[in-house]
This record gives sequence, C-alpha cells and structure tokens, in this order.
Amino acid sequence: MQIAFIGLGRMGAPIAARLLAAGHALVVHDVNREAMGALAGQGATPADSPAEACSGAQLVLTCLPGPPEVETAVMGPQGLLQGMAPGAIHADLSSNSVAVVRRVHAALAARECTMLDAPVSGGVGGARDGTLQCMVGGRHEAFEQIQPVLQAFCSKVSHMGEVGCGTVVKLSHNLAYIATRSVLAECFTLGVKAGVEPERLLEAFRGSAFGQGLMLSHFLPEMVFKGRFEPVRFSMRLAHKDVGLATALGREFDVPMPMGALTEQLMVEALARGWADKDYGTAFLLQEERAGVQVRSRG
Ligand code: NAD
Repeated sequence: MQIAFIGLGRMGAPIAARLLAAGHALVVHDVNREAMGALAGQGATPADSPAEACSGAQLVLTCLPGPPEVETAVMGPQGLLQGMAPGAIHADLSSNSVAVVRRVHAALAARECTMLDAPVSGGVGGARDGTLQCMVGGRHEAFEQIQPVLQAFCSKVSHMGEVGCGTVVKLSHNLAYIATRSVLAECFTLGVKAGVEPERLLEAFRGSAFGQGLMLSHFLPEMVFKGRFEPVRFSMRLAHKDVGLATALGREFDVPMPMGALTEQLMVEALARGWADKDYGTAFLLQEERAGVQVRSRG
C-alpha cells in the first residue's frame, strides 16, 4: 500500500521503520529534515510538505505532538487537505483533542476522504517491538481496510466507536496512568521516609490487590458495570480508617500527600451520606452523581 507518514519523532520513526520492514511504500514528511534523512536511509521517500507526501497515497498516517500540529499538517499551507485524493484515508496516531479530530474529520469528509482517530498506547518500546495498542474511532469499513497496516506496529487494534471515540479512550486511559503515578509517588515517598526499603514496598505492591489488577479484573466489570456493590467485602468505615492512618503517617514524617488528602475527603463525603457500612466501592457512585452519568454495562 502507498502510505504517507507525517511526524517522525520518538514514536513516529520506529512505527515508520516497521511499516517499511513490512514492505509498504512510504513517503515521509517531518519539519525536522534530520528525522526524514534517517528514514530515507531505510528506504522511505522524503517529501517537503504534507501535501507532497500524500499525493498518490491511499493511507496517510500522522504521529504529531498534539492538536495544533495536527491541525496545521491537515489544514495549514501545503497541508493534507491540498494533496489527499478522494477516497484516501487519514488515520491520526497522535494523542489529539476530540474537537480537532472532529474538525479535521469534517474538513476531509468535504473532500470525500475519511478520517479515523487512531491514538496508540505502549510507548517507544512498543513502537519498536510492534506491540502497541491502537484505539480507533470512525467509519467501520475504513477501520477494516487499514487494520492490516496498523498490525505492522500494533499487537492489539480495536474499534471504539464513531469518530473521536479512540481519542476519548486514549485520554481517559492516560489520565488514569499518569494520575496513578502521582499516587504511587506519594505512597513510595511515604513508605521509604517511614523506614521501608523501596524493593520491599514494590514486592508487596506487586503481590497485593493493586498489583493483581483487581480494579480492572473485578471492581469495574463485576461491581460498577453491574451496579452491584453487595455483599460488602470491605466497608467504607474501614477503608476511610486506612486512608486516614496513611495521611496521618504522612503528617508524622512530613510527607505531603495531596492525592491522599483528596481521597480522604471524598470518603468523608461518602460517610456523610450514611454509607459507613456499605462497600467502599460505593464511593464510585458519588463521582457518577457529580458527572451526571452511570457507568453500567448495557449487555
Ligand atoms: P515527538 O515530539 O518525539 O515527535 C513529534 C515529531 O513531529 C517530531 O519529529 C517533530 O519534528 C514533528 N513535527 C512537529 N510538528 C510538525 C508539523 N507541523 N509537520 C510535520 N512534522 C512535525 O513526539 P512523540 O513522542 O513521537 O509523540 C507523538 C504522538 O504520540 C504524541 O501525540 C504523543 O502524545 C503520542 N504518544 C507518545 C508516546 C510516547 O511514549 N512518546 C506514547 C503514546 C502516544
């Protein structure tokens, strides 16, 4: 397949290299000429602009820093809008905003081209090894058409829904991934300052409910999705006690714990509802109420 690839950075370069190794003809573009040179050395054809790169391409992949760069590469001077042939597909691998995804989709649709948002997860190692996960939003037929190409650098490719849905999933996931690091930073600074070796902490975390992934394998599918918070496995009263003891330990050792303090306050809110003897998982219901939505399985 004739593919244009725009954005040859930490993620884009190894993805493009895998596409070349899989036998695709690649025309590449990046504002950084050195990045283009490295890919040209592996068999890609460099182009001076997105418009030039996508001329004659059936598929255009972009892997750019974020919304402004994607908008410029598509709608700017010498952008994709000026070069893509009717019927061609643009799949954006960048972590973009839903608003820009929709704008680009509409602009390309007016030229009879299809846009899919197809952000990836799995980091630079995943791009190099071909083990990324790709979350795709947009027309299902277009998704099926490009799926074999995505499989050159992804071990998991999934259709998430209409255009923008891949981005919604990617942004939700990254918030969880990044926010969890802030919580872990609090837990590990607390643990080490209070006298435990980091390796011991890690070993215990790995073997525990957190490390076993129970939130994803049990809490979400079995409790939240089914709206089933009974029988009580661990009461709100005891969970609140544990979080309170942890933040008190932080005060004792002068370890700032903003995430811990916020969690404690959210549990106080649950206690104020009279939920002390309910399962601590019911704290999820408070966020559903604030957000005005329920996270339930339709099946
Ligand atoms: P990067 O900054 O390393 O690379 C971006 C590339 O785009 C650079 O080579 C830059 O020169 C080029 N570029 C910028 N503006 C351009 C334009 N207008 N036209 C052409 N080229 C342009 O970024 P990255 O780490 O490769 O990330 C790319 C995307 O993938 C981002 O949206 C990021 O959020 C997402 N992502 C990154 C990772 C990661 O671990 N790095 C993981 C998953 C997803």
